[in-house]
Amino acid sequence: MRTVQQSATRNFTYPDLTHGTKAWPTEAIAIATKQPISDESLRITRALQTTLDTEELLETFYKEIKKLISYTGLSYSNIPQGIEYTVGKIAPHACTYHLVIAGESLGELSFTRRKKFTDQETMIIEYLMCSLVYPLRNALMYKHALQMALKDPLTGVNNRVAMDSTLQREVELANRYGTPLSLIALDVDYFKRINDTYGHATGDCVLKAVAAAAVSSIRSTDIIFRFGGEEFIILLSNTAEEGALCLAERIRQRIQAAKYICNEAMIAATASLGVACLGKGENIHSLFSRADQALYRAKSEGRDCVRLG
Ligand code: GH3
Ligand code: MG
Ligand code: MG
Repeated sequence: MRTVQQSATRNFTYPDLTHGTKAWPTEAIAIATKQPISDESLRITRALQTTLDTEELLETFYKEIKKLISYTGLSYSNIPQGIEYTVGKIAPHACTYHLVIAGESLGELSFTRRKKFTDQETMIIEYLMCSLVYPLRNALMYKHALQMALKDPLTGVNNRVAMDSTLQREVELANRYGTPLSLIALDVDYFKRINDTYGHATGDCVLKAVAAAAVSSIRSTDIIFRFGGEEFIILLSNTAEEGALCLAERIRQRIQAAKYICNEAMIAATASLGVACLGKGENIHSLFSRADQALYRAKSEGRDCVRLG
């Protein structure tokens, strides 16, 4: 079903619309809600203060607004933070707001239903959205902090903390459901030379670019982690030997073919890769060690190549 925009997306800018500063027609709102609107707003504020989880927050807001206005769905979209979330059902008419707080965008919020919203209803929605903006900003900041705790600051890929929990979980799932799982260990070749020749800052820049080349070669279901130094681990769920070797070879070729232009120097880099596929009932330590041994063989057999463990 296509959503018909009832009107263009409106900007909802906080604090310009705080309860104190805008002359809200609170009496008209009170008649519509059969309650003093400040009581409703307080109730909603209290409900929203109980969570820092973005989805739970939006769900709570959806339910609270539903007590006052009949509508079928609430959608929230925040592209930079990768959040797209809908509660309830999307319907043809949408009343959409671009939320802005102190100059910072908080994404877009849409209320939808089958018939048009009246002016009085949008007024109520706007009044009650004042209760949402701060809790939503707090929840987004919390989510961002959690995500950052699992990222490597230099390359932007997942860090070792993320790796430990993810690998353990994925191995358990693969063993339980009998699905294939493969692991690639990747290490940049002669990286010390790059540091020694061009300096550590240039080395950092090359490392970032190598990580980006690896990221661009993997599928959306694969997960890459920086294991430490110039070594990365790539987890391929639902992937058996043939697929894993093929992907490892693609990553190797991409890294080898790329030209790394860092601090005005054009630098070449290659990587060696070790691949291992989970055996029946095998644990993570054994799988990891086989991938590492395969990587060691790739190094000792000339580097810039892929070996299977
Ligand atoms: P090999 O082909 O055997 O892997 O040789 P290599 O030189 O890559 O391996 P070695 O382990 O001798 O050196 C790795 C170097 O990577 C040493 C270390 O200083 C450097 N390194 C580790 N982490 C970073 C980093 O975050 N930034 C930079 N610039 N260098 C790093
Ligand atoms: Mg190395
Ligand atoms: Mg290394």
